[in-house]
Amino acid sequence: MRVVLLAGGVGGARFTRGLRELGRAEDLGLDLTVVVNTGDDLWLDALRVCPDLDTVMYTLGGVIGEQGWGRADESTRVTAELHAYGLGWDWFTLGDLDLGTHVARTELLRSGLTLSQVTARLNERWQPGATVLPMSDDEVETWVEVERDGEVTTIHFEEWWVRYRAGLPARRFVQRGVAGARPAPGVLDAIADADLVVLPPSNPVVSIGTILGVPGIADAVRSASAPVVGVSPIIGGAPVRGMADACLTAIGVETSARAVAEHYGARAAGGLIDGWLVDGADADAVAPLEQAGIATRALPLLMSDESATAAIARAALDLGTSLTATRTR
Ligand code: GDP
Ligand code: CA
Repeated sequence: MRVVLLAGGVGGARFTRGLRELGRAEDLGLDLTVVVNTGDDLWLDALRVCPDLDTVMYTLGGVIGEQGWGRADESTRVTAELHAYGLGWDWFTLGDLDLGTHVARTELLRSGLTLSQVTARLNERWQPGATVLPMSDDEVETWVEVERDGEVTTIHFEEWWVRYRAGLPARRFVQRGVAGARPAPGVLDAIADADLVVLPPSNPVVSIGTILGVPGIADAVRSASAPVVGVSPIIGGAPVRGMADACLTAIGVETSARAVAEHYGARAAGGLIDGWLVDGADADAVAPLEQAGIATRALPLLMSDESATAAIARAALDLGTSLTATRTR
């Protein structure tokens, strides 16, 4: 069974790991492809940093830090040295082991490899048990239009997210470079050939929204022969972790499991999803979403540990299978 996931960082990576573990435990023969958001990527201290690609790689590789990003057993001696020279960004920590990845990536990019070639090369080491693809080899960066000290200015998404904790109200998001970006090799084919497409509980605006903004990807999802099933990143009107509510507010979408599903829309009505999982706390969204043509199931969606995550993955597979059966009947 070929499953394609469109993922951001922490939410997408944790869900993918749960799905992989379920596949292994039940010998399901899952063939996973993760298409990862690169809109958070940035140049920092002359290095190309790809936060979501690395979160996915480290999570699937079993070396993710406890906080959900960066490496486990990390130190920050290099950053301290940079600071001693008055360099680096004091609000953005790059650990020493993590820096090794960024140096390697930058070196490989400078030698002429594309980001997808570099990503494949880096992932070889970690044996993620999934094909990890960047959404595009072209540089796309999410910038945020904010008002700071009475002036409208645009800052990099990571600065808005990490430095300001999304506390400066966002006027809009600008995905620089997205209009001319092409899907990375393999992305469109993977979606077209999939048996199931999953939107894991990733940020609908700056993770999945950015991936879908790459010309060709949303159309591929709309026209995929496989069912498309999403998992709500919103439980009981709030993001489980992070500040996705600030992103949703900026694009005029209410922070609720139902509103996010309606934002994606039913594929039967020109949208992107056929199925949607909501938490038990949002069970009242089931009836209206079903009415709107989105098959919806309610179950616990907190990825609190591996077995909880595997149960969510199981529900996504089951919903996908039931949708496939309905269509071929
Ligand atoms: P980021 O790039 O690191 O921000 O990660 P993603 O975009 O992949 O995922 C962020 C989203 O994951 C946030 O909107 C969270 O609400 C959601 N999320 C995190 N943990 C959980 C969880 O345990 N359950 C669910 N349903 N969503 C989660
Ligand atoms: Ca991210």
